Amino acid sequence: MKNYILILIFIFFIAGESFSQLVRKDMVVPDIPGYVTLKCDFHIHTVFSDGNVWPTVRVEEAWLLGYDAISITDHIEYQPHKKYIPVQHNAGYEIAKPQGDRQDMIVIQGSEITRVMPPGHLNAIFIKDAKRIETERIGHMHSAETHTHGYLDSIDHHHQDYMMAIKEAVDQGGFVFWNHPGWEPQAPDGIKMYDVHKDLIGKGWLKGIEVANWDTWYPEAFQWCLEYGLTMLSNSDIHQTEEIYEKITKVTRRPVTLVFAREKSEESIHEALADARTAVWFNDMVIGKEEFLEPLFSQSIAISQAFFTDNDRNRYYNLKNKSDFTIDLLPPDEDQVIELLPQSTVIISVKDNQGEIDYDVKNFLIGPDQSMRVKLSID
Ligand SMILES: [Zn+2]
Ligand SMILES: [Zn+2]
Repeated sequence: MKNYILILIFIFFIAGESFSQLVRKDMVVPDIPGYVTLKCDFHIHTVFSDGNVWPTVRVEEAWLLGYDAISITDHIEYQPHKKYIPVQHNAGYEIAKPQGDRQDMIVIQGSEITRVMPPGHLNAIFIKDAKRIETERIGHMHSAETHTHGYLDSIDHHHQDYMMAIKEAVDQGGFVFWNHPGWEPQAPDGIKMYDVHKDLIGKGWLKGIEVANWDTWYPEAFQWCLEYGLTMLSNSDIHQTEEIYEKITKVTRRPVTLVFAREKSEESIHEALADARTAVWFNDMVIGKEEFLEPLFSQSIAISQAFFTDNDRNRYYNLKNKSDFTIDLLPPDEDQVIELLPQSTVIISVKDNQGEIDYDVKNFLIGPDQSMRVKLSID
């Protein structure tokens, strides 16, 4: 009996020690030469602005999906829950960070600076104290007890104090990027870049743009990133639970910013963002500069030795996709795309005298209307 109880106590402790029953689905994306590829979402809301989820849940959701890093970026200006939840701009980060530490998830401190267009909405990440990014005007607005702000009420004032907010974020070492530039309520006549944005880019304060946000991607933003040397981002802007987000948006996967970092650390992510070492993974598309997409592609693909030669001397090969990317290959002079699904293999046949195959990778975009061309060497 005594042994029995001891065993029970032992089992209890083992069970108590085991960290959780959650099982993570790894996101399989290759590293590229010189860098590890980190999967990140830098735009996430919680109950501390207009989100409906507690900050620790954001870490668990991202962990389950296979992310390496997230940033909690609650609105500083828009606080619709303030009747029930106090206005505390650093709370999302302070609550999520210890959870991140326990789940090997890098949690980066951030805020969304929320104004009418221009400049629209800007995320500042790697900041130190979100409270200091709240301007005096916004502080008064939050402390007005009787004032119930609708969304547009809270932001649609043509005040120039956003410059103070952005400057404070930059002074704190923050990395600032422009969110959802084509978001319909702020771009009813179509996406456009304003002089304010050009000024901010010129000052070195605005360093990136969301090329993808929520359920949309913006070819114009991709073009601007290429032209101005800005960092491309792909973020969810999630406000509700992961499951509801997926059902509303119908995305095939939550947006991912791929960051090419020297190592998996917050400092390396910051350095990579400052150096525009990113790519956009949105639905089944991979979008970015060829210098990153080419190695991402070649590290994802494996081609076998020829395993068969037919009577017409065509050679047969296994072409394998080791990654979670979908890869759409269009062979030359053909109109039938080979859809190489995540972690799958297709058989291709090649003419006798061919030493390499050209493909147009239809869903790897290196320009707004330009897919990437690759050559695969074969034996
Ligand atoms: Zn926004
Ligand atoms: Zn947002």
